[in-house]
Amino acid sequence: MSRSSEFTGFYKLPVTERVKFVKDFGNLTDQEEELLHHSGPLSFEVADRMIENVIGILPVPLGLATNFLINGRDRLIPMAIEEPSVVAAASNAARIARTTGGFNTTSTESIMIGQIQVVGVSDPQNARFEILKSTEKLLNLANDQDPLLVSLGGGARELQVRVIDTAVGKMVIVELLVDCRDAMGANAVNTMAEAVAQMIEQITGGRVLLRIISNLAVRRLARAKAVFSKDQLGGEAIVEGIVDAYAFAAADPFRCATHNKGIMNGVTAVVLATGNDTRAIEAGAHAYAARSGHYTSLTTWEKSKEGNLVGTLEMPMAVGIVGGATASNPIAKLALKILAVRTARELAEVICAVGLAQNLAALRALASEGIQRGHMRLHARNIAIGAGATGDLIDRIAAQLVAERKIRVDRAKELLYEFSKV
Ligand code: NAD
Repeated sequence: MSRSSEFTGFYKLPVTERVKFVKDFGNLTDQEEELLHHSGPLSFEVADRMIENVIGILPVPLGLATNFLINGRDRLIPMAIEEPSVVAAASNAARIARTTGGFNTTSTESIMIGQIQVVGVSDPQNARFEILKSTEKLLNLANDQDPLLVSLGGGARELQVRVIDTAVGKMVIVELLVDCRDAMGANAVNTMAEAVAQMIEQITGGRVLLRIISNLAVRRLARAKAVFSKDQLGGEAIVEGIVDAYAFAAADPFRCATHNKGIMNGVTAVVLATGNDTRAIEAGAHAYAARSGHYTSLTTWEKSKEGNLVGTLEMPMAVGIVGGATASNPIAKLALKILAVRTARELAEVICAVGLAQNLAALRALASEGIQRGHMRLHARNIAIGAGATGDLIDRIAAQLVAERKIRVDRAKELLYEFSKV
């Protein structure tokens, strides 16, 4: 039976109750429940094989965003992030969206671009012609590197060649377009790009230098749309305020960097929770936002003729459900199970919906009371911890800081001293 992800006051539950809820929702096993209770499960043994020179593990909280309805299906969203108020904001925006049908999403195929740089070619247009003539041979050679990917319906699909002008003259850039199916694909694509280098040198008489994937994944896009009712948002003035706030971001890169950062608060948190490459997604997002030559908003916001707010997000989303750290990190595996995604495209679409929700929440706060009130209220607990508070004192001091509207570490230290005396 499918269950609803709607939950009012999830934050009021003790952590153990929240884990119970997600266990029921996601059909987790007792061992998986145990894993969540004793988070920090990455053993030295595993960590030491993931990167080099391991000396420790940095834990990041794993939160759960509720209320998401995506293409008619309820989803709980695991988010790994150190910043307060992001998970609450996403859940809140998703709660508003579900009253008007939730999020609608689509995606393209999982096609990544591998680039092969050819230098020292005297006749670049001739080289381009000759490379394209050998397309089939080159694609076959690329596909020989990954029979498993090919057997799953993926592999190198297309070849394109561009002659570009650079500071040191013309260069021939060969691009392999590879369907990576359910993998992020960097290792797979890089291996293919390296494998075809020699053949390209023979064809062109030039020298191949770089052979590497591009993170500007324009052929691997995810799209999300949602309508937010003006009544739920707090009236038509808020709708207009959000549209104006969006226009500011779309026109001005200084504002837009922060606007897009707000989207990435949601996107990166899910990317990290699922063991995917956060830097790859961030690089792709910002490069995509600047693809016209003018850095602009990844989202769009319009007022519908009924006066409601319509938001869309389109961005590259190179995430996988196999490969990378998705399998080696047990919590990432669990996050994928909670999300209940069956393909990388489904995951990409879910992440895109979260990014859109996050942007709505930030714009709504900015266009009304400002973000500081809500944000600082949640941040007060961090301030209390930073001042040295432990146990019950964390919440007592945080509440006092909020009541006094003095959410500062010096005041937290005074309160800690006062409260510890009695
Ligand atoms: P990978 O090599 O671990 O896994 C991909 C392989 O898994 C495929 O080549 C295929 O053989 C196999 N596979 C099994 N089932 C599959 C399925 N259903 N769909 C697709 N493939 C399947 O990982 P990857 O995804 O090729 O590379 C991701 C890693 O590369 C990440 O850890 C990333 O951080 C890293 N990386 C990124 C960059 C970059 O973004 N610029 C550069 C280098 C490395």
